[in-house]
Amino acid sequence: MSPIEFRRELHRHPELSFAEHCTAEFIESALAGEGIACRRIAQTGVLAVLEGRGDTKRAVVLRADIDALPITESTGLEYASENEGVMHACGHDMHAAVLFGALQKLNAERNFEGTIFGLFQPGEECTPGGASMVLAERPFDGYDVVAVIGNHTDSTLEVGQIGVCEGPFMASNDELRFYVRGRGGHGAMRDKIDDTVAAAANIVTRVNCLNDSDLVLSIGKVVADGATNIIPDTVYMEGTMRTFDQQLRESIWAEVEAVAADVDRHFGTTTEVVVGHGYPSVINDGVLTDLVRGIAAEKFEVVELARRYTAEDFGFYTTCYPSVFYRLGVGAAAGRSHTSTFAPDERAIAVGIELMTELAVKVK
Ligand SMILES: [Zn+2]
Ligand SMILES: [Zn+2]
Repeated sequence: MSPIEFRRELHRHPELSFAEHCTAEFIESALAGEGIACRRIAQTGVLAVLEGRGDTKRAVVLRADIDALPITESTGLEYASENEGVMHACGHDMHAAVLFGALQKLNAERNFEGTIFGLFQPGEECTPGGASMVLAERPFDGYDVVAVIGNHTDSTLEVGQIGVCEGPFMASNDELRFYVRGRGGHGAMRDKIDDTVAAAANIVTRVNCLNDSDLVLSIGKVVADGATNIIPDTVYMEGTMRTFDQQLRESIWAEVEAVAADVDRHFGTTTEVVVGHGYPSVINDGVLTDLVRGIAAEKFEVVELARRYTAEDFGFYTTCYPSVFYRLGVGAAAGRSHTSTFAPDERAIAVGIELMTELAVKVK
């Protein structure tokens, strides 16, 4: 099966995060067709294994995500989604096809040292992130993992352009929830109430002051269901918090709690802060990024990218192993990802395969 056929099959039958049952079965059968050994991982993921020369405890992990999004496709492509309301609108079908093609090539040529894992990872789009579930199974214990390598489609780059960013590349993402509680009551009788609305407004203002060049903090939902003359007992708020640095991330969790506690002292309210821990930031290893640059510069075109405040569960791998995550140009005509018309240029698959294969072979 060609990587493009593989991709189209996945595209036709997209499945949501952690429900990639048919996807995993299909990947298993495609790998079996190539004589590549594999097993299930994180329930709906697939881990392929290729053994090469020399020390087979030295390992390289090639990773693709395989989940789709709750979007009804409107591309009109002949291989458009047949699963109503679900679509590969983030290009994860492309990532899986690149990985499949790389494994095909590596398996056929058998010209590498150590062990190469091909990780088809489920559930990238939803917390807790399939990457955390993969790592919880400790599949690489006993191996010296010298690199985890992954890529993502990018429609701001043309086919043949490879986007790289050394060091912090993508942000951590945590969800913040606030429950500001107090004695609600008549808005005219201020001595008998705790002004939960004013307290919440203070929290929003003060939390927003924490924003700086390395931190994003935005409150996007405020629910104070009172009236002109009613102060509610509870105001609910939620937002997102993103950083590139684990220490800063943890210090801001504490800072947000401190802001809420200080506001409570002024307003007599009791605020519960709930931090939903998301993905850690993606930190690209310097040596591996240079290797991507070198190979991509020879065959393709390298584009240096700025760090971005979006998140990726690939960040979990970067906290454990030397890792690199780069962007694969799929052309501006693809349109924006996470939309019903996203249609990446399939010529990018061959580019992705060539780069990933070379990386797998050349990584030291
Ligand atoms: Zn996505
Ligand atoms: Zn994605």
